[in-house]
Amino acid sequence: MSKSNLELLRTRVDDLNLELLKLINERAQLVQEIAKAKETQGVYKYDPVRERKMLDTIKEHNDGPFDNATIDHLFKEIFKAGLDLQKDDHQKALLVSRKKKPENTIVNIKGETIGDGKQHFVFGPCAVESYEQVATVAKAMKEKGLKLLRGGAYKPRTSPYDFQGLGVEGLKILKRVADEYDMAVISEIVNPADIEMAIDYIDVIQIGARNMQNFELLKAAGAVNKPVLLKRGIAATIEEFINAAEYIMAQGNGQIILCERGIRTYERATRNTLDISAVPILKQETHLPVMVDVTHSTGRRDLLLPCAKAALAIGADGVMAEVHPDPAVALSDAQQQMNLDQFDTFYSDLLASNFVRI
Ligand code: PEP
Ligand code: MN
Repeated sequence: MSKSNLELLRTRVDDLNLELLKLINERAQLVQEIAKAKETQGVYKYDPVRERKMLDTIKEHNDGPFDNATIDHLFKEIFKAGLDLQKDDHQKALLVSRKKKPENTIVNIKGETIGDGKQHFVFGPCAVESYEQVATVAKAMKEKGLKLLRGGAYKPRTSPYDFQGLGVEGLKILKRVADEYDMAVISEIVNPADIEMAIDYIDVIQIGARNMQNFELLKAAGAVNKPVLLKRGIAATIEEFINAAEYIMAQGNGQIILCERGIRTYERATRNTLDISAVPILKQETHLPVMVDVTHSTGRRDLLLPCAKAALAIGADGVMAEVHPDPAVALSDAQQQMNLDQFDTFYSDLLASNFVRI
């Protein structure tokens, strides 16, 4: 029995469906190849001019029966699906992700290899106030075999009337002390224009919590060959934190240390709320080393030791805390910095705990 006309038409539609399917997937494959080519150029770009041109060409060739508005709509959907595919490719494998690079990144700071499975410690004053102040802390650290010295020369303060830091003078003090004591310096930079100048003085560029989404600063730090310690924003989600690191790495600089420093919640018992579970999440999701700043997260001296233990127990690659020769007269964070005796006790108690691997 021969097929009816209707059956023949339906068979033809079925064939065309499969042909269309093949064509849109072929198109999708090309779109993915384009995305890869763009990735090697280090950019991701949606190109509206190209999209407009493609639509115009298609409509010029449209002989119906679909009208141009319908054709516009159909092809825009196809374009959008292609774009989503490109985006997905990026989001599925951020450069900082474990998916992209399963093995741990190790950040080498003058021989201290952060992310190597051992734990590393960063100490120093909140702000650089004088040569003597920094040198006193450096000496106490040196006696303990500690090498990573922190200190802020540019202080992003809540009030514009508070001490803003010594600026480049502060960087010079840090460098002098680091040279004298053979230490490495971690210091916050707040202005993208200062990065080039600052890298002559410091060993690690710190990007502070308030600047975690200062994208121009992230890009500038990503464009130089210098390790970056990126702090989590005061109200940043883990996803935003990871994407901030991606901004740095997308520019070519993969020497990044993530630092959990507490987030703002309704809780007032601590200065911020230490999001301890962020540590294993960041370790799982990214290949970057993760540190915990126990000073700014707690804002309380009595919590420094238990929180440092918790950080190490949960898998942090290191701990940061502030030390000042005389915290009572410190120009910033006077309530939470340790004096030298407290530092001694803190560090020896931490070493005596079961959580340290150095
Ligand atoms: C700091 O470490 O000096 C500092 C200001 O910390 P945060 O950016 O985490 O507040
Ligand atoms: Mn501080």
